[in-house]
Amino acid sequence: MATLRSLCSQYMLQLTTSCNLKCGFCPLWQVQPKRSANVLPLIKAGTFFDLFPRKQLYNVLGGEPLLKGELGVVLAYLKSEGIRTRLWTNAQLPLDVLATCFGSVDEFMLYFPSPDPDDYQLLTGMGEWTQFESNLDYLLAEGQSVVLQFPILPDTVDRLAEAYELAYYRGLGFLAHYCVTDPFSKETRRYIERFRRVKGVWLYPLKYRNEGACPAVPTQALRRPWPQLSNHLDELMNGLPFRFRV
Ligand code: SF4
Repeated sequence: MATLRSLCSQYMLQLTTSCNLKCGFCPLWQVQPKRSANVLPLIKAGTFFDLFPRKQLYNVLGGEPLLKGELGVVLAYLKSEGIRTRLWTNAQLPLDVLATCFGSVDEFMLYFPSPDPDDYQLLTGMGEWTQFESNLDYLLAEGQSVVLQFPILPDTVDRLAEAYELAYYRGLGFLAHYCVTDPFSKETRRYIERFRRVKGVWLYPLKYRNEGACPAVPTQALRRPWPQLSNHLDELMNGLPFRFRV
């Protein structure tokens, strides 16, 4: 996971609204016109940081950022400037596309809507579980740092424990987020909040989901350092007296 210091100094760089999936809760493929950021000329001209802030951590997202041809150049540039990067991706792309980012991504934040193969396909419209699983294995075999990120929806909350277990048994970080305006019962909310005290879990409550970027990314939490810092502190305190398994 990102360091405490970098969490206090981060930026979201959205490269595209295009995506290769069609998740049911996503407005990007349903209503939004396609948009794409053209940052390559800025990098070539050495004026990137005239337009974008110099932060310690860049969250690179889409749509699906791996669909952007110049992604490798952007990531390599940020790395050369000493900036940590997290790539928020659905990983539904060929291995050679993923490999273009090795060496310049500090953390792959993998969109993980469900640990159940049938649900996975249903939720993502076009995603294939076998591809997700083999790409995850590939990233791990290549020594990449991976966090599974699970948007908790009313339809998927009953998979939360199973999703966490998959991350736990593979030794991965697990980031879950839910929208407080979604129709969860009080009991369900309490159940979700219990995960805050589980080791290796980061839990972000959101007031809304961003409709201009991939709504599977908790952009609202990334904009506000406090929920992340409080999670980071919770995680540091997840010592044995407080820790439990679900
Ligand atoms: S939610 Fe994210 S991964 Fe799913 S279709 Fe939308 S942009 Fe793509």
